[in-house]
Amino acid sequence: DEVETSDDIVRGTNDDATVSRLSAVSLGYVQDPFVKLFVKKPTRRSPIINRGTFIRSYAIDSIVSQFLNMPGPKKQIVALGAGFDTRYFNIKAGILNHDGNALSENLSKYFEVDFSEITMKKAMTIKRRKELCSLMAKADQTKIGRGGMDLLGEDYCLVGGDLRNWLDIASRLLEAGLDLELPTLFLSECVFIYITPEESNTILKWITENMKNTMFALYEQIKPDDAFGKMMIRNLKSRNIELKGLQAFPDLTHQEKRFKDLGWENATAVDMNTIHDKYLDRSDILRMSKLEILDELEEWHLLAAHYCVAWAVHSTDFSQEFNAVQ
Ligand code: SAM
Repeated sequence: DEVETSDDIVRGTNDDATVSRLSAVSLGYVQDPFVKLFVKKPTRRSPIINRGTFIRSYAIDSIVSQFLNMPGPKKQIVALGAGFDTRYFNIKAGILNHDGNALSENLSKYFEVDFSEITMKKAMTIKRRKELCSLMAKADQTKIGRGGMDLLGEDYCLVGGDLRNWLDIASRLLEAGLDLELPTLFLSECVFIYITPEESNTILKWITENMKNTMFALYEQIKPDDAFGKMMIRNLKSRNIELKGLQAFPDLTHQEKRFKDLGWENATAVDMNTIHDKYLDRSDILRMSKLEILDELEEWHLLAAHYCVAWAVHSTDFSQEFNAVQ
């Protein structure tokens, strides 16, 4: 019998995230024609989860769009623990745009890192699906690396490995063409929470010391200590999921401080209620209310208070330009 390790359980959270995204796409919250290619068994999620998926996607997409849309040289994106994230394909297909402007012209290269078990599956799906692989620049020259665990393309690279061995990952990213000088946005959506604060700090420190123009966008759970937070942790524990990164960064101020302590010029963290109330268009809120009825308003506000988006800038060139989710 195969024994399920704690790493298997962490990898399993990727299926959860992908199924949730497809649920939000199927109901019309989010536009993404590609995510269905990564799901075997679609499941409809509750209105609260769908709304949460939309707002998270909205916030991170907004940061990605603003970043790519900044003047200056072409830009890189590095998604840590990317799972079956489809953002690269949505950028290339023009689905993710900025006021109608294509963003793909400003993209130099999009890197994704996840456990090899995940990248291998992702690489296989990409190779099998014309609608995915045809979006890659110079698709016919894309190379397969390390027995199918890496995909090395002109503007897209999939790197399989363990983020806890960051020096190994970093050297493979460099081999795959990561440019230490170019403006670079790092993404971590529901990932740092699964590794220890020391392990995520090693990554942030390396970025701080080795790169010049960087941004970071992060999506995480917060507030482990109130009644709702404790309930969330209990639920996850019953599925053997441990949130190693939660206690060290329990509040918005801690999420900002982790960047400021390393000397990043700007760091802002807001919870999902703030994104909903302050940044979302009225038209989006109206549109969502027509998609599904949300009866459990109180529960929604509680859940939204337990997730945050943080964005931080460490750059001599663009630290002033980037201040808010739009
Ligand atoms: N970022 C994707 C998203 O938002 O849809 C996936 C999120 S999923 C909840 C967490 C992802 O982080 C999984 O794909 C998991 O394999 C990856 N991950 C967690 N710890 C990791 C590690 N030590 N090394 C590489 N990947 C890791």
